[in-house]
Amino acid sequence: MTGWIVQAVRRGRLTTRFPRAPPGEEELPPTARLPVLAPLPPTEAQRRAARCPTEAIEGTRVDEGRCLRCARCLPGEAVADGPWDHLVPGPGSPSAPGGDPEAERSTSIFAAPFLRSIHVFPIDVGSCQACNLEVLALANPYYDASRLGIFFTPTPRHADLLLVMGVPTAAMEEPVRRTLEAMPSPKAIVAVGACAVSGGLFRSLPGRGSVGSAGVPVVYLPGCPPSPIQILAAIRRAVGVPRAAGERP
Ligand code: SF4
Ligand code: SF4
Repeated sequence: MTGWIVQAVRRGRLTTRFPRAPPGEEELPPTARLPVLAPLPPTEAQRRAARCPTEAIEGTRVDEGRCLRCARCLPGEAVADGPWDHLVPGPGSPSAPGGDPEAERSTSIFAAPFLRSIHVFPIDVGSCQACNLEVLALANPYYDASRLGIFFTPTPRHADLLLVMGVPTAAMEEPVRRTLEAMPSPKAIVAVGACAVSGGLFRSLPGRGSVGSAGVPVVYLPGCPPSPIQILAAIRRAVGVPRAAGERP
């Protein structure tokens, strides 16, 4: 026992300091950031848009919900260095229709901020597993979501938030509906990753559905996959906790 204590004291604190301190660069890889495109001559803009696997580029505007943060549209070895904490508007979100990211950033989807711990239930509706791994990382000692009052629950009957990962298809509509039915109110969805937000790479999949059609408020978190810090920030935003260091106003 004494050996464990000595070891722990020597090693020091390993858990991330987020949200007390802004996330470090190592916690936000370039794939967590949106590419920012400068005004370009039309031919160059077309060339960049042609490289985009999800047709997310219109002129210099990047559709955040579709963007996979792959940086193919950036020149040479450049990496994306845009914002990391964007939630995007989508069907069923507080700022839809029309899309107002500012409204999305400032609105809790629940009527009042949560004053208790929050229980989340993840559901995979057809992901490549990468989003699942990032969500699972919240339970490890580094991200340790439980220190922020965020807990995974094995049953939707105790869940406040449904984390949806993957492309929602017509075949999965019924399981998602039944899961939501089992959750007590108030309840909401966090759509984790480009697949759940916009279909991502699979947006032309026949029979693709939408998490927005479930009739429950949705927070849309883009990325492919979003990093654990982004998922933590999205859950906190969904339940209306005050903004943390490093998060955009
Ligand atoms: S998906 Fe890739 S190529 Fe398309 S806008 Fe995003 S970073 Fe650029
Ligand atoms: S958003 Fe990307 S990482 Fe997540 S499930 Fe889809 S393809 Fe996989």
